[in-house]
Amino acid sequence: MKLGFIGLGNMGAPMARNLLKAGHDLTVFDVVQSNVDALVKLGNGRVKSANTPAAILGSGVDAVITMLPAAQHVKSVYLGSDGILSANVKDVVLIDSSTIDPMSAREVSQAAASKDALMLDAPVSGGTGGAEAGTLTFMVGGEEGLFNRMKPLLQEMGKNIVYCGGAGNGQVAKVANNMLLGISMIGTAEAMALGVSLGMDAKVLAGIINTSSGRCWSSDTYNPYPGVLDNVPSSRGYSGGFGSDLMLKDLGLATEAAKLAKQPVPLGSLAQQIYQTFSLQGNGGLDFSAIIKLFTK
Ligand code: NAD
Repeated sequence: MKLGFIGLGNMGAPMARNLLKAGHDLTVFDVVQSNVDALVKLGNGRVKSANTPAAILGSGVDAVITMLPAAQHVKSVYLGSDGILSANVKDVVLIDSSTIDPMSAREVSQAAASKDALMLDAPVSGGTGGAEAGTLTFMVGGEEGLFNRMKPLLQEMGKNIVYCGGAGNGQVAKVANNMLLGISMIGTAEAMALGVSLGMDAKVLAGIINTSSGRCWSSDTYNPYPGVLDNVPSSRGYSGGFGSDLMLKDLGLATEAAKLAKQPVPLGSLAQQIYQTFSLQGNGGLDFSAIIKLFTK
């Protein structure tokens, strides 16, 4: 296929490289020229650059994938004066893999439909490691027939490709899951810190939790207490992994969406405030399991 790709950052660049490896020709755009240059060089003639999002459409692409920081960037890339939807997008497939709030995703999807484009929201989980390895999970919202048609393309960047329902539902799945992850990480951190402060060995306590009713992903796969598990951020000074500021962003999306839906999320709101405090203290760059620092000496 001839593909457009916009947003060649930590996630977008490795995703675009996997598409290149799979044999697609790309036309790319990013506001940071060095990100564009790196991919054009790697493409050896198979990657072209465009000057604006709209110009990508001029190069006759079948589909465009966007991987941008937040809703404001997505809206400017799609709805701006030289945005994607200012060009002729009839029958072009538009896939937004950025993590944004479901309402914005639906707004952009409606605008795309009014220009006869076909749109999917397809946020991912799996981090930069998953983007590099092509093992991301895609949570996809939009029309089911279009999902089935585009699944093989998404499989070139990911392993689990899950249909979540109509437009915006990919983002719904993503924010609901990550809200639970933030809450369960804080809960695991509290419980581990309590047990150790009352005299238990951290590994023994984690073993009990992980064979009892308190078990969850944060306790058995990503335990925040240092030394309990090898090869997780808590055993390497909370470097790498999923940054606390990214968790804060996702908790903000969940609480904002909840507000609009008039849906109570008391623990999600508290988790958002706890990560906000942690970020204000200068810890936003640490993996999100570092939240245990609030409860330990
Ligand atoms: P990033 O900041 O590294 O990359 C974003 C890219 O978009 C940058 O290259 C930036 O220059 C470009 N950009 C910004 N505004 C633009 C515009 N108007 N036009 C064109 N390009 C523009 O971010 P990332 O880590 O790649 O994350 C991208 C998205 O994926 C975010 O929504 C994030 O929440 C989500 N996500 C990230 C991770 C992760 O581990 N990094 C995991 C899952 C989901």
